[in-house]
Amino acid sequence: MSHSTTPPDESTLSGLLHADRRIGNEHAAVHKPLHPSATFAFKTAKDLVAVFQGAQPGFVYARQGNPTTAALEAKITALEGGRGTACFTTGMSAITAVLLTLLRAGDHVVSSQFLFGNTSSLLQTLQGLGVSVSFVDATDAAHVQAALRPETRLVFVETIANPRTQVADLAGIGALCTDRGLVYVVDSTMTTPVLLRPREVGASLVVHSLSKGMGGHGHALGGSVTDTGLYDWSGYPNIAEPYRKGDPGNWGLQQIRKKGLRDMGATLRADDAHRIAIGIETMRLRVRQASANALALAQWLSLQPQVAAVHYPGLPGHAQHERAAGLLDQGFGPLMSFELQAGADVFTFLDALRLVILSSHLADNRTLAIPVAHTIFWEAGAERRAAMGIADGLIRLSVGIEDVADLQADLAQALSRI
Ligand SMILES: *Cc1c(COP(=O)(O)O)cnc(C)c1O
Repeated sequence: MSHSTTPPDESTLSGLLHADRRIGNEHAAVHKPLHPSATFAFKTAKDLVAVFQGAQPGFVYARQGNPTTAALEAKITALEGGRGTACFTTGMSAITAVLLTLLRAGDHVVSSQFLFGNTSSLLQTLQGLGVSVSFVDATDAAHVQAALRPETRLVFVETIANPRTQVADLAGIGALCTDRGLVYVVDSTMTTPVLLRPREVGASLVVHSLSKGMGGHGHALGGSVTDTGLYDWSGYPNIAEPYRKGDPGNWGLQQIRKKGLRDMGATLRADDAHRIAIGIETMRLRVRQASANALALAQWLSLQPQVAAVHYPGLPGHAQHERAAGLLDQGFGPLMSFELQAGADVFTFLDALRLVILSSHLADNRTLAIPVAHTIFWEAGAERRAAMGIADGLIRLSVGIEDVADLQADLAQALSRI
């Protein structure tokens, strides 16, 4: 529901920084103003009807979108090189909107088994609604291929998995999905458009938690779904009649937007859209700095006698290092995890940290640590944790943009306590 005239090229940093000003704001404001209005008024009944029926751009009621969120959506579309974007109140509501609006009972999904815990739990909810799900090791497209069935509709993967940092066979799965006409959903939260554009590996839909690296400052929740324009929705069976109108390129996102926002009400608030849009202005600088810090810390941690293993795609010993190096621009991202030597007390180490925060959040400006098995993957149980490669002593570190020497000093003094 973009209302701007010629969209500026926000895919470049300069374009992004000047995007709001160029669409023409009141008083020549450099930022798109905040529009908290719940509703929008029309001069004539004909105008009202035209906007309702989609014949004319505009806004009707803020559950379905507001101008501040639309400006953010235009920026994300440009950053991803996509066709259109719908924003939601959280990353989870964006993923829920995709899965609930595109799938029906009897459909089958192939998903990476290395998933954000809540996405994994959501897929289990879908199984209760009659959608079958196969969880496979998505680091090899052959595993995805072996799981396909005639009723498979969609493949879901994350770029760099949390917390063990497995890198999916993104291009291989993309080629497979293109060949089989499957919707390919890529959760690129860990990579952001700075490191990877999933359109280049054949993604149909790109999902982000905007709460993480996109916003970056840990002061707003949000999610987005971008249609890359690669999928041919005219052949997709689950598009409802009202959305099979006009250019088939718009059908998928139209249905996700109408059902996910209008019917399910998972609407991003204008003030959160504004904060996220401000965060995106510095995203490239932040992601580069966090990635450089993470690589330095991963290299240093792997030399420490108290550390048994470090999982980071930037390390040559990582199982998908070559793939990551080929796919990712400008760094390997902020996420790593590591295991202390057997017998070392994880809690003693974590409680000794002074600068690093104990927190479940990710890709923030501040460096965050969490014991994984006891917290974010506690509900999954020992068996699922084992399948995901999550040891009891695994610590997830989300590296921020602090001075790397300060971070290293903090980790060193905490390691010295164990
Ligand atoms: C955080 C996260 C989500 C969920 O996003 P929220 O905004 O917290 O709802 C989804 N996927 C990945 C990979 C995440 O890191």
